[in-house]
Amino acid sequence: MQTKAFNDPEAARETATKVREIKAALVRRKGGPFELETLHVEAPRVDEVLVRIVATGICQTDAHVRDQEYQTPLPAVLGHKGAGVVEQVGSGVTSVAPGDHVALSYPSCGHCRYCLSGHAPYCEHGFELCFGMKRLDGSNALAQDSVHGHFFGQSSFATYALATERNVVKVPDDMPLEFAGPLGCGMHTGAGAVLNTLRIPAGASVAVFGAGGVGLAAIMAARYAGASTIIAVDVNDDAPPMCVPN
Ligand SMILES: [Zn+2]
Ligand SMILES: [Zn+2]
Repeated sequence: MQTKAFNDPEAARETATKVREIKAALVRRKGGPFELETLHVEAPRVDEVLVRIVATGICQTDAHVRDQEYQTPLPAVLGHKGAGVVEQVGSGVTSVAPGDHVALSYPSCGHCRYCLSGHAPYCEHGFELCFGMKRLDGSNALAQDSVHGHFFGQSSFATYALATERNVVKVPDDMPLEFAGPLGCGMHTGAGAVLNTLRIPAGASVAVFGAGGVGLAAIMAARYAGASTIIAVDVNDDAPPMCVPN
C-alpha cells in the first residue's frame, strides 16, 4: 500500500529507489518513427507526481522536435499534453493524491521572479524545463535506458509520465480524460491569447487565422467573452464542422 510506504521511513526509502517498467513511443533519430519500446522510469522525487497516462494529445511541437527543428536531444520520449490518473506522489506533494484524475501542462520552476509573481508561463527556466529533457539539476528519470525524458516536464507518449506537482491539474472524475489532454497545451494557448493577452471586450469582432486545435480554442474563448462576430480563416476546406457557417 502506498500509504504504508509514506508512513514507514524504511519503506519510503525503498520506494524512492525503485524504477517502474513502462512502454513509451520513442523517437530515436531525426525524422524517425515513434516506436513502442519498454523503458524504465524512476519513482517520483519529493515534488514529483507519477501519472498513469490514459490519453495524450499530439501537437506540432512534438513533430518539430522529432524533425529536429528544435535541437532537443534524441532518443527521446515526447508528448506534452497528457491526461491520466495519479499513480504515486513524492513525499512533499499535497495538492494531488493517488487516484486523482489530472491533466498535465507545461512546467515552471516555482521560484523565479515570474513564477513568484503569478506569471509561470514566463518562467525564466521554462525553455530549459520544456526542451532540456532533464530536471533542472541535470538528472533524468529515464537515464537507465539512455533515453531523454522530462519533455515539457512530462514526456506523456508513454504508459506512465513523471511530472511535478506544479504541472498537474486535478480534473473532475467524471470528465472523459481524452478531453482533458488538449487542455494542457492547445486549449490554453488559444483561449489564453483571447482571454488574457487580447482581453477582448464584449461585442468585439474577432478573426482567428488557422482553425486547428489552438484556433478552435480561441474561437470558443471569443464566444465565451461575448464577441459579436467571430471569423475563422483556414486554407483547409475540411475545416471542422463548427467552423462552417450556418
Ligand atoms: Zn503543444
Ligand atoms: Zn520560474
